Amino acid sequence: MTKPITFAYPCAKCGAGQAILPAKIEAMSVVQCVQCGRKHGRLDEVQKQLATKAREESFQKMRQIYRNRPTGKNRSS
Ligand SMILES: [Zn+2]
Repeated sequence: MTKPITFAYPCAKCGAGQAILPAKIEAMSVVQCVQCGRKHGRLDEVQKQLATKAREESFQKMRQIYRNRPTGKNRSS
């Protein structure tokens, strides 16, 4: 009855893009790689990492847009 739930999370060890959520989802549960079984950490920590990553990516995208905008000359010393 308890099917493993997978979600997108890059593994630092084997490069697999999927991780398994524990059957019993709790903040203290440990998220593991589907392929090599590497422990990514506690669910709440992994969620925090993903949120930080998403924020950084959107921040970088925003900066790129600003950089590419033709707002005068871009002189930096
Ligand atoms: Zn792995």
